[in-house]
Amino acid sequence: MRKNRNNRPPEVGARGLLRLRCPCCGKEFGTYLHVSQMSIGCRCGATISLERGLAHYEFKCGCCGMHAKGQTNIEELEITIPCKCGNPITLHWDKDKRRYIE
Ligand SMILES: [Zn+2]
Ligand SMILES: [Zn+2]
Repeated sequence: MRKNRNNRPPEVGARGLLRLRCPCCGKEFGTYLHVSQMSIGCRCGATISLERGLAHYEFKCGCCGMHAKGQTNIEELEITIPCKCGNPITLHWDKDKRRYIE
């Protein structure tokens, strides 16, 4: 008998470094998920859905040299993400690469 091990469902939700904007209160915050989650709660009590798939972003901080990769639910041509060291990094949406880059 042959077992089909290839029909795993695709990974849903999001994990890793996340930069999120709450659609309810508009607050932006960063978080890190060790396991995939379908949603995350904001402090205002709203639930932010991660189901739809998030946009990827990537930057290398000019201050501390950290190379960060994450995902965000913010949909704008330009976003600003603070590095761990506090340096704000401005990223632009690259519509060819479908991700935010410096
Ligand atoms: Zn909120
Ligand atoms: Zn930095």
